[in-house]
Amino acid sequence: MLNKTDYDRLKAACKPYFENAKIAVTDEEWEKFQVAEYDLGCVDEIGLELIEYVNTARCCAKELVLLPGQTCPEHRHPPVCGEIGKEETFRCRSGQVFLYVDGAPNVTDETMKAVPPQSRPQYFTCRHEVILNPGEQYTIMPNTMHWFQSGPEGCVVSEFSTCSRDEFDIYTDPAINAAQDRTL
Ligand code: ZN
Repeated sequence: MLNKTDYDRLKAACKPYFENAKIAVTDEEWEKFQVAEYDLGCVDEIGLELIEYVNTARCCAKELVLLPGQTCPEHRHPPVCGEIGKEETFRCRSGQVFLYVDGAPNVTDETMKAVPPQSRPQYFTCRHEVILNPGEQYTIMPNTMHWFQSGPEGCVVSEFSTCSRDEFDIYTDPAINAAQDRTL
């Protein structure tokens, strides 16, 4: 569980990312700022920040910020509630995103842009690399394993998806699946 000091620190660190990307948010949205820290106690390494704009039964939109060095852990969105699972599109707004999806490897550990978190590299297995620069996007189909890391400047990523049901996501790292509260 994230403490308030870290929450406030990360929230303050993210503010200039929204400003620099010229993404306006209301005070009410800023109040709902979330940190996904996955209960691993290493949020600066494995974690990300977000504001959820909408999440209905059919669609979801979020703004994600990954500060320099932050990584979203490898996961997939399985079929749930009689539906095929979440489909999501990531669109880079600022900085650079190194995205890894299930599929034929196109990089090796030596040539890939991202550095898997050194505390638990075994849980970052996908090696099909997609690099997103501002204005570029990629769609991840349901139940497809993926993880991503910011470039050295950090990044802002818009996420457009079907309904988000984070509690059903399946992570490669068993410690994350065991955690109950994944966001603050
Ligand atoms: Zn996902």
